[in-house]
Amino acid sequence: MPKKVKRYGFLSSVPKVDRPFIRRVLANPRGWASAGYAFESVGRNRAQKKVDFVIDVAEEDDLLRRFPHDDLRGLSVTSIHRGASPSHIYLNRTNWNRVPANFEGSLDEYRAYLIAHEVGHAIGFDHEEPLPGGGDERTPCAVMYQQTRGTRGVCSPNSEIERERRPKKMARPRIL
Ligand SMILES: [Zn+2]
Repeated sequence: MPKKVKRYGFLSSVPKVDRPFIRRVLANPRGWASAGYAFESVGRNRAQKKVDFVIDVAEEDDLLRRFPHDDLRGLSVTSIHRGASPSHIYLNRTNWNRVPANFEGSLDEYRAYLIAHEVGHAIGFDHEEPLPGGGDERTPCAVMYQQTRGTRGVCSPNSEIERERRPKKMARPRIL
C-alpha cells in the first residue's frame, strides 16, 4: 500500500519526556500505519514545510474556555483545519496524567488510545460506535470510539486500528 505521509510537530507544552512514547504510538505497525499512514516529525523545520497537525497539551480550564461545548467537557479536543494551517490536537492534561474512571487499562494504554484517537481526527476520521462490527465487552473497542467516556462493560481498550473494522472518514472539517 502506498504510504500517506503526514507531518506533525510538538508544541512546547508537550513534555519532552513524553515525546518518545507518542512517536512510538505513531510508528506502531498495528496502528495507523496498518491503514497506510506514515508520520514524520518536523522538529525545528516547522516553518519551512507543510505540517498536517500539531500536538499540544492544554489545561482543562483553558480547553473549557476555548471550546465551551458540553459534549467536549473533560475530553481532549482536535480542531480540524484543511488548507494551509495545521489541525490542532489539544491533549487534556488531566486525562494525559490520569486514567479516566471508566477506562479499564493502564495509563500507557490510555495514552496510546488517546494519541491514536486524536491523530485519527487530525487525519480526517470521524467518531465510531464502540463496536461497529458487533461483539461483546471482550472485543477491542473502535479506536474512533470515545474510550475516555468508558470501556467498562462495553468493549476492551484498544489503540490499534488493525484490530478493528476500517473506520470512516468524516464528511467535513470540524472540532471534535
Ligand atoms: Zn474524538
